[in-house]
Amino acid sequence: MTVPLIELCAVSRRYDEGPPALNEVTLSIAPGESVAVLGPSGSGKSTLLNLVAGLDRPSAGTVTVDGVRVDQLGESASARYRRARIGLVFQFFNLLDDLTVADNVMLPAQLAGTARGTAQRRATELLGTLGVGRHASAYPGRLSGGERQRVAVARALMNRPALLLADEPTGALDTAAGEDVQRLLTDLHADGQTIVLVTHDLALAESCATRTVHLLDGRVAADSAVARVR
Ligand code: ADP
Ligand code: MG
Repeated sequence: MTVPLIELCAVSRRYDEGPPALNEVTLSIAPGESVAVLGPSGSGKSTLLNLVAGLDRPSAGTVTVDGVRVDQLGESASARYRRARIGLVFQFFNLLDDLTVADNVMLPAQLAGTARGTAQRRATELLGTLGVGRHASAYPGRLSGGERQRVAVARALMNRPALLLADEPTGALDTAAGEDVQRLLTDLHADGQTIVLVTHDLALAESCATRTVHLLDGRVAADSAVARVR
């Protein structure tokens, strides 16, 4: 049995109002898995992802990622944890509009104290691999949604994260761009990247995930391997 990369143990997240966003979720994800978290709007998907990313704290339970008790990290330790171990991709890209594409991608490395030349080489390599190399010195506002999401993926991979987290990464893209991002995530998983992906998009889940976790009202309603004909 491999040591899990992510381990959630009886994790709940309650707000003052309403039922718990997550209700005693226990879940273990091994290195190299690609897991799609599915479920209706409001079922707790983003809450789950944010807890794994250390962007939020559980009301009860423990979150362990890559040996780190994420639920116990303070603000600066949690920022360091994300920088070193987590790549994050969001629905609306979250790129900085007044930095060039290359500078956006290099930012995580700079924050981690990587030498500029090293960061530049890696940014160039990543942007090339992801098919947006020619836009390196452009500003994100000039790019299409699909191109911006590729840049966001490059930024997420900059510090070679143990874990790539994506929350509705195709949610703001047209079908063709969504399929590009789908292929990209599938290739990353084939190269060994551990991925947890929140999505409404069943096609995306079935193509890049090896396992689907369905949430309903903050609980795991189903957890199954994706059958694949190869
Ligand atoms: P999903 O990503 O599956 O759509 P979320 O994880 O965003 O769902 O939300 C789960 C539940 O928690 C929802 O009912 C939502 O209204 C509630 N929730 C999320 N964030 C907050 C908040 N900051 N304050 C109060 N309730 C929240
Ligand atoms: Mg959400």
